[in-house]
Amino acid sequence: MPEFKRDSRYDILFEPVRIGPVIAKNRFYQTPQCAGMGDTWINGQAKHREVKAEGGWAVVNTEICESHHTSNQSYPCMRLWDDGDIKAMAKVVEGIHKHGALAGTEIGHLGMSSANLYTREAPISPSGGPVAQIYPTQVRAMDKEDIREFLRAQTNAARRAREAGVDIIYADASGLEGPPLSFLSTRLNQRLDEYGGSMENRVRLFRQFIEATREGAGPDRAVAVRVCVDELLGAEGLTVEEEGQALIELVGEMPDLWDINVSDWENDSIVSRFGKEGSQEYYAAFIKKLTTKPVVSVGRFTSPDTMVSMIKRGVQDFIGAARPSIADPFLPRKIEEGRIDDIRECIGCNVCVTGFTLSIPSRCTQNPTMGEEWRRGWHPERIALKTSDESVLIVGGGPAGLECAHALGKRGYQVTLAEAQTELGGRVTRESRLPGLAEWARVRDYRTQQFLQLPNVETYLDSQIEVDHILEFGCENIVIATGSKWRRDGIGHAHHLPVNGWDQSHVVSADYILDGQEVNSGPVVIFDDDHYYLGNIIAEKLRQDGHEVFLVSPIAEVSHFTHYTQEHRNTIKRMYELGIQIITDHAIANIGADSLELIHAHSGEIKEIPCATLVMVTLRDCVDDLYHQLLKAQVRCTQSGIKSIKRIGDCFVPSTIAAAVWWGHRYARELNEPETDGVPFRRERTMIYED
Ligand code: ADP
Ligand code: SF4
Repeated sequence: MPEFKRDSRYDILFEPVRIGPVIAKNRFYQTPQCAGMGDTWINGQAKHREVKAEGGWAVVNTEICESHHTSNQSYPCMRLWDDGDIKAMAKVVEGIHKHGALAGTEIGHLGMSSANLYTREAPISPSGGPVAQIYPTQVRAMDKEDIREFLRAQTNAARRAREAGVDIIYADASGLEGPPLSFLSTRLNQRLDEYGGSMENRVRLFRQFIEATREGAGPDRAVAVRVCVDELLGAEGLTVEEEGQALIELVGEMPDLWDINVSDWENDSIVSRFGKEGSQEYYAAFIKKLTTKPVVSVGRFTSPDTMVSMIKRGVQDFIGAARPSIADPFLPRKIEEGRIDDIRECIGCNVCVTGFTLSIPSRCTQNPTMGEEWRRGWHPERIALKTSDESVLIVGGGPAGLECAHALGKRGYQVTLAEAQTELGGRVTRESRLPGLAEWARVRDYRTQQFLQLPNVETYLDSQIEVDHILEFGCENIVIATGSKWRRDGIGHAHHLPVNGWDQSHVVSADYILDGQEVNSGPVVIFDDDHYYLGNIIAEKLRQDGHEVFLVSPIAEVSHFTHYTQEHRNTIKRMYELGIQIITDHAIANIGADSLELIHAHSGEIKEIPCATLVMVTLRDCVDDLYHQLLKAQVRCTQSGIKSIKRIGDCFVPSTIAAAVWWGHRYARELNEPETDGVPFRRERTMIYED
């Protein structure tokens, strides 16, 4: 191993920083971040946090930890509702402490954010009103006893956190739905008692909330406040210049640390298409000037130079990170060891957020080991060495093939990667040329950069591989990672058979646009039955190219899946800003030479729109001919010494880039390992009670 040394420019990032009674060993701070596991998959949760601590983060937090059973969101999170929850929290803390990091937990009450569907308790807020979840129930206005109970719960939960060994105990005010901020908000608080009206009154609960946390935390644990200082709604909402500033002026010295965020989550974890590294600088810097306490804030930081600049310019004291710590749990260690090129940079796609929104262990496009740390025993930096001298030929250099080559290369296998095109990357290279997706090329660049250093990985570009090449090659293991192609015939969720008129020359698939081909002059219609980002980004591109654009969805809203990645609102806003015409609930009735007949999904009514080019974004077909040809040539394969032929990624099942990377990684982990009979990972089972 070559000797690595930290660049002295980055020394400032490794200075210890005091947070009240505790000391963080450096400035790398994993802010509260959902892992999709909560206390449901607690062993997975614990291992996930432990790996971060091992990777050099000075502070590792859990996600939100509910203080009371009247706060019951439907997504996986931590809970300290009663003493029975201490053990689970202690398990998480134990892993974090093993590597010398401080453990934190974000204790709070989610107030009006969810309908409490499991506990069936009434949601609470300052003045009642709607619940922030589509469910036919309302929120109850808190009376004085509710306020006392809310504060008691915070003290008790903080005391439990302390008993579990937590070092940094949060008073969470990160969302407007929780009592501390909803009481502060003039929009949500119409109370006439001492908790409503003047700023001093509206801050009362906030102040008591911090005191309650401190009471439970005791003198030797730090109390942090995570607070949203701006709703990005202008004068209608809370703004940093008004309530944000006034709040800090009143309670700025009460906690030991301020963790600054903007609301709501869609803005706080903005996707790279809509917000770049350091996008929250203004808000953190504003607050830092108003308090002597250390400040942490996020900004999808992956560049050590940007981090140093944030500290030196006095914007914040800690480099807060959620997504960068998922994409690369070893980010601090890599900077410390002078291995900057080894950093696996987050691409800002928010696939990790689907862990929360879909209530599943989180996954990550860049880091295939995310969520697999415990159940499959995958470590983000360590992989078992090879167990044979067999070689591997990988056909296709998209995300699946690249990750496969990278991980097999690190295991020490002799790997050949052949790609038909003159550049690597497959779909990420093509998609990264679309508006706002440039950072997606990091999926390619990280892997390419990694295996270029490995003498056992050879790459051949401009090499269209056929059966005879494979037979001549002499590799024992063949991996087919040849990807997929978008269909042009309209088949998808809405149409199970080809649509009328699909075979005309002005009907093209998404690949046509990805290949950079020109569309006809005149209106373009994008029929989006994929419901994720590609349909709307193609719409954006074509609109920017000067076309009149219609974005048509067969369901009630366009780009529905982007709700799960928390980018739906920004996406729709962008469509409206660009003047893209959105048509929902319509499928295709007939494609004419210069017009398109659409049929309403429920009434069956037909309407006609002009259409010079129709772009289909529906389903993809696997490019798996080579795989099937090889299977047919099985005897010749065996004679050539081939022992295994497998498909991975989109060629096996068209899915997300994250899935393609995961399939590539999985192949590499499992090569020559004994096959398991049953479920190929450890499961966490519910405890069975006698009765
Ligand atoms: P995935 O997401 O599964 O990695 P992609 O579609 O991104 O799939 O990448 C597949 C890659 O495979 C593309 O870059 C394509 O050029 C390449 N490819 C497809 N067929 C062949 C072949 N026969 N020989 C070499 N490369 C191929
Ligand atoms: Fe970053 Fe995407 Fe990974 Fe989330 S899933 S950490 S946004 S690369």
